Amino acid sequence: MNSLETQTSTPGTDADAHRLPEDLPQSIQHYIDGQFVDSADGDTFDVLDPVTNETYIQAASGKAADVDHAVAAARRAFTEGPWPRMLPRERSRVLHRIADLVETRGDRLAELESFDSGLPITQALGQARRAAENFRFFADLIVAQADDVYKVPGRQVNYVNRKPIGVAGLITPWNTPFMLESWKLAPAIAAGNTVVLKPAEFTPLSAGLWAGIFEEAGLPQGVFNLVNGFGEQAGDALVKHPEVPLISFTGESATGQLIFANAAPYLKGLSMELGGKSPAIVFADADLEAAVNATIFGVFSLNGERCTAGSRILVQREVYDEFVERYAAQAKRVKVGLPHQKTTEVGALVHPEHYEKVMSYVELGKTEGRLVAGGDRPEGFETGNFVAPTVFADVPPTARIFQEEIFGPVVAITPFDTEEEALALANDTRYGLAAYIWTNDLKRSHNIAQAVEAGMVWLNSNNVRDLRTPFGGVKASGLGHEGGYRSLDFYTDQQAVHINLGEVHNPVFGKAD
Ligand code: NAD
Repeated sequence: MNSLETQTSTPGTDADAHRLPEDLPQSIQHYIDGQFVDSADGDTFDVLDPVTNETYIQAASGKAADVDHAVAAARRAFTEGPWPRMLPRERSRVLHRIADLVETRGDRLAELESFDSGLPITQALGQARRAAENFRFFADLIVAQADDVYKVPGRQVNYVNRKPIGVAGLITPWNTPFMLESWKLAPAIAAGNTVVLKPAEFTPLSAGLWAGIFEEAGLPQGVFNLVNGFGEQAGDALVKHPEVPLISFTGESATGQLIFANAAPYLKGLSMELGGKSPAIVFADADLEAAVNATIFGVFSLNGERCTAGSRILVQREVYDEFVERYAAQAKRVKVGLPHQKTTEVGALVHPEHYEKVMSYVELGKTEGRLVAGGDRPEGFETGNFVAPTVFADVPPTARIFQEEIFGPVVAITPFDTEEEALALANDTRYGLAAYIWTNDLKRSHNIAQAVEAGMVWLNSNNVRDLRTPFGGVKASGLGHEGGYRSLDFYTDQQAVHINLGEVHNPVFGKAD
């Protein structure tokens, strides 16, 4: 592994100062067929530190030639290698070892992830634990997997022969990159496929760690391949590669639409986890303290760069003023800080381009709603991608900040009077990823949950998720659900095998008289 050549960090005197993590690789490379390699054309791109916006490392910029190379390795590992043919129990052992290694390296993973993405370190640690859990979950699932058998007594038995499909193309976004990669890698590999991963270009650092983890856990060479680069080049080449029958994509809805069109001529299996603008509906009978705490966390955790963020809060008129007042006061106390500091609750947004986008919505919000918290850089952070937690009240549903995904620490609050109005407002966007409902009325909670246009609903809780449940959105938030067995369904083919037990049962054509 060449990436063990390392940069030297420049230790400062202040223990709390922002600095490069120790032992960074010299550069970020692709990982193809068990080797770290540069791009075939030697091209690289700059990766920025979100706190200073200075380039801190170069990453290999993959193109079609690199994707070809990676797909060929993955294809070879699929057709000639042991992985797809191993017993589920043997694959499961490797997956458990991967989970163990992710757990033991959690601190390092979180350190790199937090540095590269600007996520607060405590939250990056939680994401590393979740990444390990994803592997453990699918390690267990593949040994417990049961497939259907259908019997027609005396005549026929039919059974489902589940098989891996081939090379899966995995395309991931920059929010919680390592965890979201694990979400796709674990089921794809567990099912016996081989993969080519294309991580987001804003945050390529942590993906390289998979290589060492997989090698140490005993994953055969060529099963995992990694190509860095831009979406329009490396991502596009993967989508259009004829030997990649599956694409699992997480990212923006507009990118998902483009990938759908680009994959159409190849008739690929597609799984699309896309954007969101999820409502949190707070009824007057709710536990207001719990609702305020949860909706603050729901939009400001992970810097607001969370697909399931409850970024539209709908509040019943009777408690509206009190809610807005408490919410704004608490939002002002949310601690913005350097990503590596343990007390930080909101860190730096991932990239200056994204910072500009979020700030443009903050400025727009000042014309569309009533600013009650934030609205600028936080005090003391004159550089870097820092945004003060920002709250707009009285936001009409026609406002762009009500309709469009901002993907930052910005929330819109809107009043409603009746249950019908709450539901109409909740459904009044093109998105349908998540919804949160706060009420102590049992009937109402279920009726609204079932009527709301969202792939996932949480009643009186935040988005803690049982890994067995479906994950995914409706409308512009996605197509296809992963999660639990559904992920294995996406990454496998369910072949039907029919066995005759009796007379061959068909009319005889061309019978001799
Ligand atoms: P993005 O769509 O810009 O990029 C996602 C990935 O797609 C990146 O790796 C990018 O390089 C690649 N890509 C871009 N253009 C491509 C193309 N033409 N062909 C192939 N690949 C291409 O998204 P982002 O800004 O990285 O991530 C934020 C978005 O992701 C938000 O909209 C967020 O809601 C969404 N998201 C959704 C979920 C979910 O589960 N629904 C989870 C996390 C993030």
